[in-house]
Amino acid sequence: MNKINKDNLLELLRLIKYPGFSRDIVSFGMIKDVRVSDRNIDITLFQSTNDEKILAELKNSIINEISKVNKTILTNVQFSPSDAHNTIQHNMQRKHNIKNIIAIASGKGGVGKSTVAINLASELSKTFKVGLLDLDIYGPSLPTLVGCKQTPKVKENNTLVPIDRFGMKLMSFGFLNSGDDPAIWRGPMVSKLTNQFFDNVEWGELDFLILDLPPGTGDIQLTLVQKIALTGAIIITTPQDLAHKDVQKGSDMFNKVKTPILGVIENMSYYHLKGNVHGCKDYKSMYVNIDDASDKILIDNQGNFKIDIDIFKGKSGLDESKRLGIPLIGKIPLDPKISLLSDLGTPVVFNQSEIESIKIFSEISARVIKLLANN
Ligand code: ADP
Repeated sequence: MNKINKDNLLELLRLIKYPGFSRDIVSFGMIKDVRVSDRNIDITLFQSTNDEKILAELKNSIINEISKVNKTILTNVQFSPSDAHNTIQHNMQRKHNIKNIIAIASGKGGVGKSTVAINLASELSKTFKVGLLDLDIYGPSLPTLVGCKQTPKVKENNTLVPIDRFGMKLMSFGFLNSGDDPAIWRGPMVSKLTNQFFDNVEWGELDFLILDLPPGTGDIQLTLVQKIALTGAIIITTPQDLAHKDVQKGSDMFNKVKTPILGVIENMSYYHLKGNVHGCKDYKSMYVNIDDASDKILIDNQGNFKIDIDIFKGKSGLDESKRLGIPLIGKIPLDPKISLLSDLGTPVVFNQSEIESIKIFSEISARVIKLLANN
């Protein structure tokens, strides 16, 4: 019979998934208190729901898991009223059967959240069922990014049917507000609309729902983290220190409300300069100095050269990942093709040409899948 102490008890509790979710009860922040003696284990969980069935299921799973290790010890599980941060509002995920909800977030605007959100969603959609919800009420960019001005259908029961484009299910304030100036919505109204996007959209069955959050730590973010249990957030930053300060505030909000942060993506990290010098064929390879590049450029004996130039100095991605102890999922170059294709309404990852950035988005998406598998 194995001895149970506080540490290995927490490891055991990590094996228990919250009913209907892929996340375990420890990472959900449900454990309020554990006490272990030779004969008894007392576990107090924050009460996440009033649904008796779920509470009973949780209790049974815990008792079962402990009895696999030690049959004689007596386990007592009780629930204590939850505070706001520990409330797990699971209706949406259960109702719509969405396996993973990932928020793309940053404390700062203009760093490429929407660009990463659409390209990550598009890349994942090559293999999985994917939805994308643009929650930027004041500057929704999804309609432009997918070149679509359609208005979603409203069903008789008042539910909205998401737009189907590039094989993904899409929803944005921009589809509803088509082209008009955004209204000056105040906090409660914004929260209400955000709620409706979760409760009243027919998402159906999805492997991934990617959320494109507005910048900052305002009403939408708070509504969101209180309403649904995100699988995790991904923080977007650019290299500069100025970006880092704002980005930190965004990350800290997720930490405060115990939402896991899967990792950091640094966007606009470098510019990949590649080309050919004519008339070099008969020469030996040579080096050329370029003012803003940290390295010399090597031109080979065929006249070909390539170099990554750091347009924005700094390493915020790495710094933020180290500060939070989470992975740097990837670094995306500043690539004119990304912004050009975004403006034309086709995510770059759907382009048929050989583009370096497509390879990078594909690596990022593979890393996200791996991180979720290990979560
Ligand atoms: P955010 O959602 O953080 O406000 P966006 O995704 O809307 O930022 O990006 C802001 C602008 O920068 C857009 O015009 C977009 O096309 C461009 N952009 C974003 N990432 C890149 C990149 N890696 N290379 C080139 N342009 C980019």
